[in-house]
Amino acid sequence: MMLGFLLARAGLTVTVLEKHADFFRDFRGDTVHPSTLEILYELGLLDEFLRLPHSEVRKLTGQVGETTLTLADFTHLPVHCKFLAFMPQWDFLNFLAGQARVHPSFHLEMRAEVTGLMFADATVGGVRVRTAGGERELRADLVVAADGRDSRVRAAAGLQAIDFGAPMDVVWMRLSKQPGDPEQIFGRIDFGRIFVMLDRGDYWQCGLVIPKGGLAEMQRRGIDALRNDITEMNPFLSDRVAELRTWDDIKLLTVQVNRLREWCRPGLLCIGDAAHAMSPIGGVGINLAIQDAVAAANILIPELRHGAAVPIEALRRVQRRRELPTRVTQRAQLMIQNNVIKRVLGRRGRMRPPLVVRALGASPLLQRIPARLLGLGFRREHVNC
Ligand SMILES: Cc1cc2nc3c(=O)[nH]c(=O)nc-3n(C[C@H](O)[C@H](O)[C@H](O)COP(=O)(O)OP(=O)(O)OC[C@H]3O[C@@H](n4cnc5c(N)ncnc54)[C@H](O)[C@@H]3O)c2cc1C
Repeated sequence: MMLGFLLARAGLTVTVLEKHADFFRDFRGDTVHPSTLEILYELGLLDEFLRLPHSEVRKLTGQVGETTLTLADFTHLPVHCKFLAFMPQWDFLNFLAGQARVHPSFHLEMRAEVTGLMFADATVGGVRVRTAGGERELRADLVVAADGRDSRVRAAAGLQAIDFGAPMDVVWMRLSKQPGDPEQIFGRIDFGRIFVMLDRGDYWQCGLVIPKGGLAEMQRRGIDALRNDITEMNPFLSDRVAELRTWDDIKLLTVQVNRLREWCRPGLLCIGDAAHAMSPIGGVGINLAIQDAVAAANILIPELRHGAAVPIEALRRVQRRRELPTRVTQRAQLMIQNNVIKRVLGRRGRMRPPLVVRALGASPLLQRIPARLLGLGFRREHVNC
């Protein structure tokens, strides 16, 4: 959607195809990081965006065992928004779609599912689309696969991913927020248990990290056991765990970490999760996808303005530009997954914060480091098209 907006803003004709009728996905990524907010500022959209309902987190606070610590302080970042914004992904997407529609060359088709690619020799020349009106072909100078981690387009192009694996999955659930609840707490970590809590205004979006494939075992233990685990970790939630009535109230995120070897073919480019599924650590998936879109727009708009086929070299430039930040972020996520999460989930008992975490909690200066890594990421893109 972001790339569609940027292309249309540059006067290029663009069609965004979305297979669903709306953008509503419960428990989808909702963290909008300062780097993305800065892009909205550069586009002159920030004030309007911030008028939408959202919450702002300036400091991340977590609980390790019995100790509550501040882990990241965003208030010193050198950008306009010194906070993480939490906004439902459908609101963000509807906002971008609304901004894009202002441009007459932008077209958004909902309930339009890409079923395959059209090739002319070895070059991708368009897509096949299934709509309520039947199947049709849509020709294009360039096809961009931004169809997520299960990308059908990348499979149709025969692009191969390197899979890095993950020792965990996450189950998401929603619990109501009550007066007197702690402010801006980010969750709790203890041996055997990691529980994340995102403040969504009138409710908590809660994520329980479980060993990979552990949902079946969790269901075997029963929903009461899950309620007890949550209450043990967060006694203040005891009065509302009954809101989790059945397993339908719990959604599984199967964690994947992977990256395409090649992000493009002649006539085709993959970006976002279609090029690289990120671990949920740091909640950076949306932001990397947005940065990919900005980099792609910066590199491709001058090429597309020529009106001819985009040279494969330009598509490779997008990959070269975005592969480094993807690699660095995934490497950091894999290090945390394998050295922290795996060990924490594999043990039982009360955890004491390790020295490095205690030092972080005690030093406001040190708290600026994770804030910078998380909030701005590696190799920030700027809109220059
Ligand atoms: C449960 C969950 C929680 C997450 N939490 C966070 C978080 O807190 N913060 C964060 O930054 N990231 C989070 N992420 C990751 C984040 O959602 C993604 O990294 C980000 O949305 C990637 O954007 P994208 O545009 O590449 O793909 P997506 O957001 O997956 O968008 C792909 C779109 O393509 C559509 N589509 C798929 N196939 C087709 C087709 N054949 N034809 C037409 N349309 C198609 C889909 O319906 C979808 O709308 C989470 C992911 C999940 C699954």
